[in-house]
Amino acid sequence: MKKSTNHSNGSFHPISAPDFLPRNQLQDLQLQRLKAIVQRAYDHVALFRKRMEERGLTPEAVQSLDDITQLPFAVKTDLRDTYPFGLFASPMKDIVRLHASTGTTGKPIVVAYTQEDVQVWANVMMRSFAACGLHAGDIIHNAYGYGLFTGGLGAHYGAEALGATVIPISGGNTQRQLTVLKDFGATAICCTPSYFLHIIEQAPELGVNIRELPLRTGVFGAEPWTESMRRRIEAESGIKAYDIYGLSEIIGPGVAMECRCQAGPHIFEDWFYPEIIDTKTGKPCADGEEGELVLTTLGKQAMPMIRYRTRDITALTSEPCDCGRPLRRIKRISRRSDDMIIIRGVNVYPSQIETALLKVEGTLPHYQIILTREKGLDEMEVQVEVTPEVFGDTVGALEQLQGKLCTSLERSMGLRARVRLVQSRTIQRSEGKAKRVIDQRKM
Ligand SMILES: [Zn+2]
Repeated sequence: MKKSTNHSNGSFHPISAPDFLPRNQLQDLQLQRLKAIVQRAYDHVALFRKRMEERGLTPEAVQSLDDITQLPFAVKTDLRDTYPFGLFASPMKDIVRLHASTGTTGKPIVVAYTQEDVQVWANVMMRSFAACGLHAGDIIHNAYGYGLFTGGLGAHYGAEALGATVIPISGGNTQRQLTVLKDFGATAICCTPSYFLHIIEQAPELGVNIRELPLRTGVFGAEPWTESMRRRIEAESGIKAYDIYGLSEIIGPGVAMECRCQAGPHIFEDWFYPEIIDTKTGKPCADGEEGELVLTTLGKQAMPMIRYRTRDITALTSEPCDCGRPLRRIKRISRRSDDMIIIRGVNVYPSQIETALLKVEGTLPHYQIILTREKGLDEMEVQVEVTPEVFGDTVGALEQLQGKLCTSLERSMGLRARVRLVQSRTIQRSEGKAKRVIDQRKM
């Protein structure tokens, strides 16, 4: 028998109503909004207009949703090339907020919001929280970074709009995080999955038993993570871990969110129009086929993004979800095309390694991948922490575990890697996005 997906003390939340719009009505709304946003970008964003003109297109080219495939793509370098304000469609007097990413390479990217955009953002974040069963009365411990990063303020506005109590603790200072979690009785936490692992790990030292806290829900995002990682987090902490998806270029967190079925994030399609394309050809992929997620903001006034290539690899599904939302879901994003490692000519994603490692008993969910080049040949070493019991075991037992991990990795990647078992807490912890790969190869 299927388990009921209704939360015991809060069934349907009225804010979720747009999630249940019948598909034909949703598509009507999408088309209206698409036409308006294409017109807006054409009128106010020089780069978009130029690309449309090069293709001999005007906004009238969009008469149906399928017509979107004629429109030009936008890519991350467009934001860098027009830094800081070149893609804005609103004058600064109408812009109420700027955010920026601290790019690891080159210039940061800047994104902008009008008052209306901020409201839409709060709305989708509110619907995100409601989708995983949170409501007024919940105490939300928001450990996403506040500041130029969109995570902190995005979650904050949504949680407040929902009527929940927000604790704007931001990231860092893990001891204080634990004290506040315990003393303020948070029922939900928002942060990156890797940071939550770090919090769980520190808990016993401060005499905090996570399982005894009222904490029951985690809203985790801002970095790719796997289903195996979810299982580890849930088993370690006794909470339910939900995957939230978003990116600053589109709005921030709140583009898609898992419902209580935990079956992949539902996209808030009334505001974000998704497509999946073949990364090489740019052609649309069929439902269920894996490719790059492309998103169009259907309402963003300050900075419309049309056919933005996210570099996130996933698949779309319109298979019905047990929650009843007709909103399509994306397969949980565990890899980005940017994260791909090429080693000895083989393409490998950190998420493949994560899954292969966590399959094996005795490992801890902390690992790092070190790439080096020796005598012209790429070498990969995977360092993984093991439980103190395993680490204190006989040499034979450690060798056996190492062997199992090598086999698991080779099966998943199709190539051999060195495995180094390390004591727990050897690998550096992150307070934001985890750094999984250290590439020491000289280019
Ligand atoms: Zn659902």
